[in-house]
Amino acid sequence: MTSRTQRTRTAVIGGGMAGCAAARQLLRGGREVVVFEAADGLGGRARSWHRPEIEPDVGINLMYVSFYKLMTQLIKEYGLEDELIRISSNVWISDHGKAVPLSSDSPLSLLTYRHVKLRDRVAFLLTTLAQVARKKKLDLFDPVKSAPFDDGQSAADWGYKRVSKRGFDFLLRPQIEGFWNFACEEISAVHARALLAWMGGSGFYVLRNGMEILAEKNAEGAELRLSHEVTGIQQNGTGVVVGAVGPDGTPVTETFDEVVVATPAPIAAKLVAALPAQTVGQETRRFLETQKYEPALSVSFLVDRGTLPAEAHIVAGGPEDPPLRNMITYPRTVRDERGRPVEKLLVFTYPGRANTRRLLGRPAEEQFAEVTKLLTSLWPQFPVESAEPFQIAERPYGFPIPAPGRYRRSVTVLKEQRPPVVFAGDYFNSPTTEAAMLSGVRAAAALTKAG
Ligand SMILES: Cc1cc2nc3c(=O)[nH]c(=O)nc-3n(C[C@H](O)[C@H](O)[C@H](O)COP(=O)(O)OP(=O)(O)OC[C@H]3O[C@@H](n4cnc5c(N)ncnc54)[C@H](O)[C@@H]3O)c2cc1C
Repeated sequence: MTSRTQRTRTAVIGGGMAGCAAARQLLRGGREVVVFEAADGLGGRARSWHRPEIEPDVGINLMYVSFYKLMTQLIKEYGLEDELIRISSNVWISDHGKAVPLSSDSPLSLLTYRHVKLRDRVAFLLTTLAQVARKKKLDLFDPVKSAPFDDGQSAADWGYKRVSKRGFDFLLRPQIEGFWNFACEEISAVHARALLAWMGGSGFYVLRNGMEILAEKNAEGAELRLSHEVTGIQQNGTGVVVGAVGPDGTPVTETFDEVVVATPAPIAAKLVAALPAQTVGQETRRFLETQKYEPALSVSFLVDRGTLPAEAHIVAGGPEDPPLRNMITYPRTVRDERGRPVEKLLVFTYPGRANTRRLLGRPAEEQFAEVTKLLTSLWPQFPVESAEPFQIAERPYGFPIPAPGRYRRSVTVLKEQRPPVVFAGDYFNSPTTEAAMLSGVRAAAALTKAG
């Protein structure tokens, strides 16, 4: 152990939103912090791609929603308010290519929403209001608050009891699956209820240069080991030994007093496989090993303005896994080959579950070609001929699936967190950056409170 005169040295494995939030908290608690990150930059799944020929130059640009408390506080503290760009909640739900608008903050749009009967729209509104009344307890980010509601029901079971099948499939299902792509049959009802409680009237924003700025600011003061893939963690008489492979393929080992493991759960399970049960309890180990993920594939195209609604989120409704799940359209100024500005739309498209799994890891040309064939299934007038393939981003660990009962298990595991090895990641709560950061803050607290 570190002597009294030395600061406690803590390794954070994984420089995503969870790991960097943990780093910030640990630095504030007086720790010396080293962040190991396999990629060449921080932010993890919240890291954008950047292409200089478009303005703003960011791609996968995650949304910050006005009810994210931790993030709101950080944006203020880091003076990033001017970097926020408001985006519209201009949602369209498509029924096999017939798309109609449904805005989450306009009750009027619910009145005119033609995909479901009036009876269902009223039932949906009443159900939403009932969840809003429980807003303080139905938390989308904190499993400690929401676990008591996690009664084993799936979102689909719960929803089908409140509105008709079609009502659920065209009102609530697309709002959940359009964000996360996992099936409502596979997730806890709590997830749907918390979403309903919080979404209405919220403001949606992106950070001009990408959300990774928050991870970077949170990690300021920590030593960064970028392009370092951790391969395993061991314990010996002097501390916790982190083994990694450096940028040039060289193996590195370093000893720490304590470790925060902030990678996706299945990777975390492998990294701690050699640790004894006194360090990683049985419940925690099982929790990590059994967490399932829905992968994500983002395929973007540039199209001419006016060919699609701008700032729109077009989502497939219905119970089946669609060929293409959704499209999000952002205006961008693009420099042509002579450097002249041309106004375009950058369209992000996300295939459905089966197509995502089929196309993940395939060569980019094949991914573009296959997704191009799917575009008109969601928007029949999509300008396929003139669409320019632009950028692909893959996230094999896209969205941890909050299966029924998972929030309760999270709480058990949170209680088991103790030094010298603790865990953080969005798989404790919901697949959002806010939940990831909360888990990081909690993991750090489990270390700093203990000593
Ligand atoms: C397509 C998509 C869109 C999304 N949109 C939104 C949105 O609009 N708003 C929102 O709030 N959330 C959104 N999310 C969810 C959000 O991205 C995640 O919940 C959050 O970023 C998870 O953070 P994390 O730190 O838990 O995990 P990660 O971001 O996965 O971080 C883990 C880090 O560990 C690193 N790592 C893994 N293995 C090792 C190793 N062996 N050694 C060292 N480092 C390692 C990884 O490189 C990564 O940087 C979206 C997710 C996806 C996939």
